[in-house]
Amino acid sequence: MTEFSSRSAGSGRHFLQVPGPTNVPDRVLAAMSMPTIDHRGPKFAELALDLIPRVRGLFNASGPVAMYPGSASGAWEAGIVNTLSPGDRVLMFDSGMFATLWRGVAERFGLEIELVECDWRKGVEPDRVESALRADRPQRLKSVMVVHNETSTGITNSIAGMRAAMDAAGHPALLMVDAVSSAGSMEYLQDDWGVDVTIAGSQKGLMLPPGLSLNVISEKAFAAGAGAASHRSYWSWADALPSNDTGYFPYTPPTNLLYGLKEALAMMEEEGLANVYARHSRLAEATRRAVEVWGVENFCVIPEKSSDSVTTVLVPEGIDADDVRAVILDRFDMSLGTGLGPLTGKVFRIGHLGHFNELMLAGTLSGVEMGLEISGISGCSGGVTAALEYLAGQAH
Ligand SMILES: *Cc1c(COP(=O)(O)O)cnc(C)c1O
Repeated sequence: MTEFSSRSAGSGRHFLQVPGPTNVPDRVLAAMSMPTIDHRGPKFAELALDLIPRVRGLFNASGPVAMYPGSASGAWEAGIVNTLSPGDRVLMFDSGMFATLWRGVAERFGLEIELVECDWRKGVEPDRVESALRADRPQRLKSVMVVHNETSTGITNSIAGMRAAMDAAGHPALLMVDAVSSAGSMEYLQDDWGVDVTIAGSQKGLMLPPGLSLNVISEKAFAAGAGAASHRSYWSWADALPSNDTGYFPYTPPTNLLYGLKEALAMMEEEGLANVYARHSRLAEATRRAVEVWGVENFCVIPEKSSDSVTTVLVPEGIDADDVRAVILDRFDMSLGTGLGPLTGKVFRIGHLGHFNELMLAGTLSGVEMGLEISGISGCSGGVTAALEYLAGQAH
């Protein structure tokens, strides 16, 4: 892929429209510029003790929360090493690139993976889950591990559907969910869905810079940890949770990211979570309306599974999607997501999550439309107009 240095860089704002890291609000940046404090002192405990229940609220969870200085990949590892032992069987899904990467982590920790093949354009089908679980006699599978919003394909899998399949099969496995690119962008019901471990990271819908990740844990998952034989130190819930409960960390926490998290949660609470999710859904629908007009395809072929946080766009044969991205970066100073793994060169991804609104989307879609035009994709005008007409008609 050719990388150009942007012609207009430095003038106006860069458009960061990759599906994470996302645009960080000025309010969050300002909050993060506060002086770092003693993480063993009383002011820190006040900060941490205020945050934990609010994080629970975001996930509609009642169980413990472990927060880590680290990327979301670390929180994947944390979920595994705190609940499972080498040789344990787990059910995973070939549903996209993040599912593939998570599987790689599971393999390195010696888990035996039963893989459900999926069509990447359709995502996980819950009836396949039910039949896999019914076939598992005598219930050797210890965990079902699914990506909620697959950021590589732009597909949201139904976690309620996963839970229903597990209940229908009467299977006691843990349910682990990667919510890295859904947290803060879509409604998430940890307790109602019976999720045992949720994995999340700071740099997507939570509107923070990278560097903070977390597990939201059920009592059942925490209890499973006592008998789990995987080695763990940095990620150990048993070490982290007793200190978190008193407002402290077993090691130096990312204090300034926690200031940022406090501000980001305040912004979401002020807007109202229902409004935050409705905004994501509206902006996603507008994006899809543009895609339909453009002579390219939405990679997701099941409309009700189209993601509210990212749209993956399939370009016509013979066009390199990375060339389209490079032109858009060069001419209009906008970064779009690249195609990952087998989708390299075939798709680009438009992130529409986090700190984002109608006019930012209008700019984003305009940049894409001009980039498609320059790339010689025919018949691509009119997408922005279709999106704007839809947005103008939406009351909110
Ligand atoms: C971004 C992402 C990850 C990985 O996050 P890192 O912070 O880069 O480790 C995992 N899963 C999903 C679904 C993601 O979107």
